[in-house]
Amino acid sequence: MSDSNCIFCKIIAGALPAKKIYEDEWVLCVEDIKPTAPIHYLFLPKKHFHSLIDLNLDRQGSDGAKYLEKIFSALTIVAKKENIHESGFRTSINTGTEGGQTVFHLHVHLVGGKKLKGHV
Ligand code: 5GP
Ligand code: ZN
Repeated sequence: MSDSNCIFCKIIAGALPAKKIYEDEWVLCVEDIKPTAPIHYLFLPKKHFHSLIDLNLDRQGSDGAKYLEKIFSALTIVAKKENIHESGFRTSINTGTEGGQTVFHLHVHLVGGKKLKGHV
């Protein structure tokens, strides 16, 4: 379920501090340590998945789809709470080294609170 070398697993376990925004049985949402916008949150599945690929969404019977649903459910709750659900925001998942992933515990970025430039 967790990886002892993973900083996000440590945050989930409470062994490393983080600003908690939302939590349920499946997902923890924390503020990014280096925010790039007024709102920059990370949605972490409570189970360690190395990356999006590790959700194994191409396989029947994996629990990845459930976690994906729960992540985006939490993200919708938080977007509404922050009142950015109508003005808009950006979500991103970086996968692997060439995709810009630097922490290898799957996470979804929620970025908003200002007019964002570009498309990524
Ligand atoms: P990635 O580049 O893997 O998509 O995103 C990793 C994100 O995690 C970065 O935006 C980085 O600022 C953030 N981050 C790295 N270490 C920590 C940490 O210890 N706590 C928090 N809250 N965010 C972190
Ligand atoms: Zn982890």
